[in-house]
Amino acid sequence: MSELSITRADCIGRDAQDPLAPLRERFDLPPDLIYLDGNSLGARPRAALERAQAVVAREWGRDLIKSWNTAGWFDMPKRLGERLAPLIGAGAGEVAVTDTTSLNLFKALAAAVRIQAEGPYAARRVIVTERSNFPTDIYMAEGLAEWLERGYSVRLVDSVDELPAAIDGNCAVVMLTHVNYRTGYQHDMADLTRHAHGAGALIVWDLAHSAGAVPLDLTAAEADFAVGCTYKYLNGGPGSPAFIWVPQRHQAQFAHPLTGWWSHAKPFAMAHGFAPSDGIGRALCGTQPVVSLALVECGLEIFEETNMAAIRTKSLGLTDLFIELVEATCANHPVKLVTPREHARRGSQVSFTHPHGYAVMAALIARGVIGDYREPEIMRFGFTPLYTRHVDVWDAVAILKDILDREDYDVTAERGAVT
Ligand SMILES: *Cc1c(COP(=O)(O)O)cnc(C)c1O
Repeated sequence: MSELSITRADCIGRDAQDPLAPLRERFDLPPDLIYLDGNSLGARPRAALERAQAVVAREWGRDLIKSWNTAGWFDMPKRLGERLAPLIGAGAGEVAVTDTTSLNLFKALAAAVRIQAEGPYAARRVIVTERSNFPTDIYMAEGLAEWLERGYSVRLVDSVDELPAAIDGNCAVVMLTHVNYRTGYQHDMADLTRHAHGAGALIVWDLAHSAGAVPLDLTAAEADFAVGCTYKYLNGGPGSPAFIWVPQRHQAQFAHPLTGWWSHAKPFAMAHGFAPSDGIGRALCGTQPVVSLALVECGLEIFEETNMAAIRTKSLGLTDLFIELVEATCANHPVKLVTPREHARRGSQVSFTHPHGYAVMAALIARGVIGDYREPEIMRFGFTPLYTRHVDVWDAVAILKDILDREDYDVTAERGAVT
């Protein structure tokens, strides 16, 4: 074992000096659990319980249908979008919290394809993305391409190095996930956006593993469209509605096929024929899951007490520490880092492979260290600076080392439906 530059007491010391430490109190975390899966399902803000009770008992129970107006239910997608906007570098009136990431991606892709079809590059028929992208993104793009029946196809690129060349004279739209869900690799958003535009393509960014995790500036990058989850780093709750960003400069041309009544200019006119609303409202579709949507606000409120620069500083401190401790104390085991060491290329998670990754992760979970497993062989650990402490990192690695040293994992363990 190599010499460690840090002790458990040092970790406790870092936590004592951590400016974000008080925000941990804003979450309800079970005691004796080290939760390193906030990249998949964020922890519960304490305020969410009271908010859920207010929505269910008072707004729904007592005020019933009046609450669409009196409790602001109808305006919630836009109101929450305004609160989320600063976290992604979006302007006012450019973000809506609505539907799912899969659906929002479909809308953004359809709009981008349509804009291209009406411009100088109308003959282009290729959507470029990465083979390593999250499957739903690829499925949605392939689904759209097939249903358009106009010769569109999805080009899957195998490595980051091959991306620039793949964005060629046939490429209509580039669709990239900013931080890879498996490896934690972070793309250079500004650089790839510039490259796509230089090649005549539009670019759609999926921020599922970026929003609330890393600083983002969609406006400065001059990106075209973006979507992302609220139930991961934004702590919106299981299945909470996603967000979509349409910058002002694209709003007049933004059109998608899911023309539900919530995106109509006058939804309560009950008119024959669809007419899109102005602004970000046209990115909506139909009635929203109000109870779930309301809880998104509890997560966003906590971000307003800090800023993404402070979150990023702590995130890199936590991920650096985790990498150092695993590599130093588990060096005699076949664990291999797949997350970039370079800060600029790293999100807020760390992934290691192990030949028995699933079994090792199951053993960790049994001992109160919650990460998750992704095929193939990847043990994934998410670091959420709002509630993860340096001492949690130390203790998690100590338990991992103990499991590996004693081979205390069951390679025949049954897998659940969700991993
Ligand atoms: C988590 C995630 C999704 C989830 O999409 P849903 O519609 O909420 O199921 C989509 N894309 C990426 C890149 C993700 O990481």
